[in-house]
Amino acid sequence: MAVYHGPSCKLCRREGHKLMLKGERCKTEKCAMERRPYPPGMRMSRRRRSTSEYNLQLREKQKIKRIYGLMEKQFRLYFRRAAKQEGVTGENLLRMLECRLENVIYRMGFAASRSAARQLLRHNHFLVNNKKVNIPSYQVREGDVVQVKEKSKSLHAIHDSLRTMRDMPEWLDLDKVKLSGKVVRVPDRGAIPVDVQEQLVVELYSK
Ligand code: SF4
Repeated sequence: MAVYHGPSCKLCRREGHKLMLKGERCKTEKCAMERRPYPPGMRMSRRRRSTSEYNLQLREKQKIKRIYGLMEKQFRLYFRRAAKQEGVTGENLLRMLECRLENVIYRMGFAASRSAARQLLRHNHFLVNNKKVNIPSYQVREGDVVQVKEKSKSLHAIHDSLRTMRDMPEWLDLDKVKLSGKVVRVPDRGAIPVDVQEQLVVELYSK
């Protein structure tokens, strides 16, 4: 699957929201949203964002897509699957995105960002239930155990990330010594720490 390789900070500035795409840098004053919190190509004084209903819905969709590092086609596939499931479509969508293995590795603290997690995964540094898995979109399930491969346990990138670890959501459990984490349960909306209004995306696609 294709991924976005352009400048991450521009995406945050475009959305007017810190999407936390660059790990530790996002928490420092070097963050582009701290220094230039207006869309690329616009001066602060001329900054005006459209507040039309359509634009708000579109921006919310773009925000979610960018947080999880998805391209349009992938995102639409997730949405279609979410709409077919029982329950609230927006919540189903976020749950599936949170359960992507790439995101779980990031949430467990093994990587500083989702893109770093994707890279580690692609280089075969992880096992899921003792089997090699290198697919970022792999959906984890309740009870799954995600662990760093024995040969990869000395990787600096993983230890550096764990040292500066963020709060881990309650639906995951981590053993920092064994470098192994467990999916305690599949998250509900309240356990997904992303500041988005997924209902706006549902409204957008319902037109
Ligand atoms: Fe976004 Fe992080 Fe860049 Fe700040 S440093 S603009 S939060 S990607």
